[in-house]
Amino acid sequence: MTTAIGVVITDHIAAARLEDLRLAGKVLRYPGDPDRVEPLEAIPDSELVDLLAGQIESLASGKAGPVDAIGVAVPGFVRSGVVEESPNLPQMKGTRLADQLTSALKERGIAAPVHIANDADAIAAGVAATRGRLDKLTRVWTIGNGIGYGRWPHAEGVWEGGHITVTLDPKERYCGCGGIGHLEGIVGYRAMRMRFLDLEPEEVFANAKNGDMRCRKFVDLWHRALAAATASFIHLAGPGRFCFTGKNVGFLELSLLRTHLETMVRMSPLQSFWLEILPPDDETALIGRA
Ligand SMILES: [Zn+2]
Repeated sequence: MTTAIGVVITDHIAAARLEDLRLAGKVLRYPGDPDRVEPLEAIPDSELVDLLAGQIESLASGKAGPVDAIGVAVPGFVRSGVVEESPNLPQMKGTRLADQLTSALKERGIAAPVHIANDADAIAAGVAATRGRLDKLTRVWTIGNGIGYGRWPHAEGVWEGGHITVTLDPKERYCGCGGIGHLEGIVGYRAMRMRFLDLEPEEVFANAKNGDMRCRKFVDLWHRALAAATASFIHLAGPGRFCFTGKNVGFLELSLLRTHLETMVRMSPLQSFWLEILPPDDETALIGRA
């Protein structure tokens, strides 16, 4: 039996023990109360490492036996255990997370190897593993404050799909990274709040349903942006499965997305794509990370 501890950092932290890719025991969550608003970006990186080490320690200790590996999923661009960029957790930029967490765990008497990966990649791996599709290309969009893009199987590269350019309009400048015309600058939650200073994103989508023209126009743009980014990845790596998840996946209307996507992908060998909404739970990412 292989025992791993998976940790997923999104707008909260979830950690669990997994035995042979199944959740064993309950999922630890920080903040413990889902309604408590305590943005993780306010926690200095060294405290965040301590917090992670504490959660892992409580899952690793006890009678359950030793742990073989520890996997941590982080929103951002991760390479060789270093968080090279993370627009939505800016304090993590440059953090040598694998090294720091390994030494924090060593102080607590835990010696299992630590692997760091991108959070959306972890979900893609989790989808592939739980559906028995480890041989097939699976891509994931995570729709939250930022927009994450993940893929399975792992491939060398940057894959910052949330920052793909979907418009040449110079006024599109709401992306968290500062880039012009980015997907996240239209679809990301923070970007929507900056665009509609008078409405919360939930109100924008509700007003659109009630026929408000300004909001309807934006909801259409939102879907077209996501379709454009998806079409670009279809034109690069081919059709296949795309899963949509994340805290704000409720905004997504799959039929509207598909309508736009069909206008953008016209080559018949590329039209066999599959779109699917995944409920935004932590379990898939935890399994993928393990
Ligand atoms: Zn960007």
